[in-house]
Amino acid sequence: MTSKVNALEKENSRKPLGIYIHVPFCESKCGYCGFYSHKGTLEDYEEYTEKAKLAIRELAIRGTFKVQWESKFCGEPMVQGDTKFYGEAMVQSDSFYVDSIFFGGGTPSILLPAQIESILKTIDDEFDVAENVEITLEANPGILTLDKLKSYKDMGINRLSLGVQSFNDDELKFIGRIHDSKTAKETFELCRKIGFENINLDLIFSLPGQEFEGWCKNLQQAAILGPEHLSVYGLQLEESTDFFRRFQEGEFSETTDEVDRKMYHWTCEFLRARGFEHYEISNWAKPGFECRHNLKYWNFQDYLGIGPSAASFVNGIRFSVGENWEITDVHNNDLKDSAGEFCFTALRISEGIDFEKFEDKIGVPFWSVYKNQRDEIQKLVSDGLVDVDSRGVRLTERGIDISNGIMAMFV
Ligand code: SF4
Repeated sequence: MTSKVNALEKENSRKPLGIYIHVPFCESKCGYCGFYSHKGTLEDYEEYTEKAKLAIRELAIRGTFKVQWESKFCGEPMVQGDTKFYGEAMVQSDSFYVDSIFFGGGTPSILLPAQIESILKTIDDEFDVAENVEITLEANPGILTLDKLKSYKDMGINRLSLGVQSFNDDELKFIGRIHDSKTAKETFELCRKIGFENINLDLIFSLPGQEFEGWCKNLQQAAILGPEHLSVYGLQLEESTDFFRRFQEGEFSETTDEVDRKMYHWTCEFLRARGFEHYEISNWAKPGFECRHNLKYWNFQDYLGIGPSAASFVNGIRFSVGENWEITDVHNNDLKDSAGEFCFTALRISEGIDFEKFEDKIGVPFWSVYKNQRDEIQKLVSDGLVDVDSRGVRLTERGIDISNGIMAMFV
């Protein structure tokens, strides 16, 4: 992949943009998964690739994001030739450069390498791409091969995220993963052999029947492999999932809050002692290996989503892609929306709400928006749940346990 951004980036004359590509195919559906994904055929993968490339071109016609949609939110569309689009969404694309690309899903590694490469090439053709762009690919350890990994490396993918979830074969089987522990370890070693130096492992704790000691063993095994990044989530039972139905039918019970929190705090301690920085509630990285793309979601930065169910946020406008690739749920943020979203997401990261950044992004001082919450915030400080100083507001480790309640105060 060639890069075209040079002095412009340094001059700060452009804003960084992340591009997320949602690949909605999986070999089979994991019981706990609430992401939009389904089984596909080779023809489906080809059709998807062509549609993704078309969507990139349509959204990024040089000079302007031409977002075409029919939306009840945006009043009458503007018409130019055969194209209808709304004024709010016309964002000058030459005021951006792409500094992160993230293939997520679903299972992006299910596509042929040539298909992934052609999507990357389309992005490169349509956008200015930073020389040091971070390109992440989520991969399922069950279907990675030496040839695929070599191709990924050659096309410029420089970050892999492996959906390992557990190193216990019974747990993996129960949650419906297609790989086993041995395959996960071998795949990690293969990635290293090919030269990937930035690898994330996804892990889940509080799995049905998992004891505290079982979780500790999983995390210890992950640490032995030595990834640069770990995404560690407690199991969430989402209503649309097979797990939710089975839980309601009484097949298994949820991990108690006490054990769940014990697992989480042990994780914090264990990874801190091994040199990982806890930079987001569920994410740990060796210094310098924080995921640039995911930081955009938490730092209120711009990103463009391609593919069914992908979300975008560009210059204060949110929109999503529907299952039929239609643009949907368009929302033009007002000040209250933006302030609330900024705080909600910033509280997830260790830096928390930075007053200077808040004012820079939202256009008014933090305390002018939240003056009525001063007492409530002070009470959280007294209870040891948040820290407040002249730089900003941050959750403490205890505050993370009730983070949703605290974040809700700001929206
Ligand atoms: S592989 Fe990932 S995206 Fe696919 S069903 Fe399993 S958890 Fe969901």
